[in-house]
Order: sequence, then C-alpha cells, then structure tokens
Amino acid sequence: MDVKSTQSSPVVADPSPLNKSRLGIRTSLLPCSQSGQSFSTSTPTLPRKKPGKLDDVRSNGWLDSMKSSSPPRKKSLKDSNSADVISDDEDIIAYLSWLLKYPSALNCFQTIVDRASNRKLVVFLDYDGTLSPIVDDPDRAFMSIDMRSVVRSVAKNFPTAIISGRSRDKVYDLVGLSELYYAGSHGMDIIFPAKDTLSENHLRCVKSTDQSGKEVNLFQPASEFLPMINEVFKKFVEITKDIKGSKVENHKFCVSVHYRNVDENSWPVIAQHVHDILNDYPRLRLTHGRKVLEVRPVIDWDKGKAVEFLLESLGFSNRNDVLPIYIGDDRTDEDAFKVLRKKNDGYGILVSAVPKESNACFSLRDTLEVQEFLEALVRMAEDDGNIEEAPAND
Ligand SMILES: [Mg+2]
Repeated sequence: MDVKSTQSSPVVADPSPLNKSRLGIRTSLLPCSQSGQSFSTSTPTLPRKKPGKLDDVRSNGWLDSMKSSSPPRKKSLKDSNSADVISDDEDIIAYLSWLLKYPSALNCFQTIVDRASNRKLVVFLDYDGTLSPIVDDPDRAFMSIDMRSVVRSVAKNFPTAIISGRSRDKVYDLVGLSELYYAGSHGMDIIFPAKDTLSENHLRCVKSTDQSGKEVNLFQPASEFLPMINEVFKKFVEITKDIKGSKVENHKFCVSVHYRNVDENSWPVIAQHVHDILNDYPRLRLTHGRKVLEVRPVIDWDKGKAVEFLLESLGFSNRNDVLPIYIGDDRTDEDAFKVLRKKNDGYGILVSAVPKESNACFSLRDTLEVQEFLEALVRMAEDDGNIEEAPAND
C-alpha cells in the first residue's frame, strides 16, 4: 500500500496505475489512463484564511487519487450493473490482457473446487460493489433478492462473514441475514460467537448481544476513537453543507465523505476542507474509496487483520483443512487479499470491470458475476455430501 505523508495525517493512496509494461499494451489502451489528469481551474472560491491552500491537495496527490478512484462512467457493452464499465474495443483488449494476470474466478472454478477438496471453505464478502452495485445514493445500495438468497445459501453451507466499511448495524440492516458474521467499520467492529478465548486480541473483547439478543463477543480495537470520530463527522457535515451532492456518513469508527454526485469543479473544495480538518487530527488517516474520502483511526487494524481475527475466533486459524475465500472490490479489501496471498492459503477475488493492480488471485467483473460465483459454490456444496456442516452462529 502506498502511504504518502501529508503535513500531519497519513494518506493511503489508490493503487498504482497499470502501465504498459505490466499489460504489454500501449498506455493509451487503458480505460483509466493516468496521464494528463488535471482539474478545471474554475473552482469555487475557498475561504481566504489560508491563501493558496489548494496547492496542498494538488501537490499531495489527493486530487489525482480522487479522480482515479472511480473511472468515468461509460456506456456499457453488457449491462450497467457495475459503476466501472467497459465500452470500446481498446478497453476490452486492456481488460482481456489484465485477465491473464487476474483470471476470472468463474473460468477457474474447477481450480478452486480442486483446492477445496477435503477442506472447509470460509467465505468473506465485502458489501458495496461486491454484493450490491455502486449507486449514486449509498443509502440505496440494496442487494437484489437473488443475491440475498444465494448469500443465505452460502452461509448455510460455509461459515460466511461480511466485512464492510459501513457501520456494522447499517450493513446488517442492508444484508438482513442472521446466518452471517458481521464486521463493520473496515473490520474495527466485529461480533462473533461468545466462547472462551485465549489470544491477546480476544482478551480485549467485551460481552454483548447481537440484533437477535444472543450473547456475543464484541471486538472494537478503535473504541477510544469514538468521540474523535463523532467530532470529525460533525465538522465534515458542517463544511460540506453548501456543497451540492456531497454526503457525509458516520460509520461509527470511520467517516465517509462522498463526492460521486458533486460537480467535479467542487472536488478540490471538498478535498481542501477535509485536508484542513485532518491537519488537527494526526491520529486519523485518509483513504480513497470509489468517489469517497474515508477517514479512520491510525491503528494497526484493517480488513486483513479482521479476516485473521475471525478465522481465529471461529477456530479456523493454523489449520490446513481450511480454505478462506475473500471477495471484494475496494482498495481496503486489498489488505485482506494480501493476508491470504501471504499465507498462500486461500483466494482473494477482486471485483472489477477495469484493470487494477491487486493482491487478489482471481477476478470477477461485477456483482452479477459475484452472484454467479456464489451460486457455483452452493452447487459445489450440494454436490458434495461430505461437506461438513457449518457451525451455528451462536
Ligand atoms: Mg466495496
């Protein structure tokens, strides 16, 4: 992960653009070319208390990251399910070239089946852009009925967890399945079955109850940041209130500032405001999502750590008969891909319709292909009478 230093708050930038040496093609064929990116100079006027402040966000790469975090929408060849779609022959050539490095998990399904033989699959799923399409209004990022049905079937056959950047309560409401485990706030808010545990992390757990009233263990490694996150959330709401289309979300242990619906000329204003506020919070850091600025605590915890934690909590760590699979589309999912790649024991699957650098092993193009892949997992389980029953989530 490329960590750039700003004045006081660390910034996690977007993945490096693919270049022609990686793809073996001309840079001009890439659908999200990084060259020549510049912002209009006709930006709205900023408060003048700090003259020349826009230079901050221009020079530190924030604006480039904002623009490259989600490629421009183009007319889709096939459907508009994904926010990132391909549109012409050159894009298709680039995508097909990229597939040589990140082959389709559907085309390679037999490889996964062979590897899963006599092993228990444990399935980790991101939510936005993985189970639900990216939409203009994050409050309306709903799963389809068919997707919910197949996720329920997956959870009946394999231990299954959702690991989302949203608050745990919000993602639970959106998914609506009690059969799953949930980790919200990029893995900083995890509930898992109550049982005696011995690890250092588990000693920091507290007893709680889940949505159905069952006793669970609650692990919140950033709990001390709650007041700070709430404070920053209020400041972000205040500074964006006059920026049309902006939306600020409080995800409990992190805050999102969405600019998907903001006029591009106003992006530097948002970036500069967020940048200025974060100068006062060196214990918070910024990451770039898909047309969203995400702010979270500077702690040694991410989705990769959450995967390791859940595997341990569920009794699946250090076992050679377990095969974790993680499906996600976002930069923050790369931490989980990295863990599985490092352990060389499991598969990361990136959801993307455009070439991206990734630590994943395989790819899926969009949420429809994710659904297709999950359906294949269910068929595999149903065809295999020897699949061990998944433990009850209680
Ligand atoms: Mg996502």
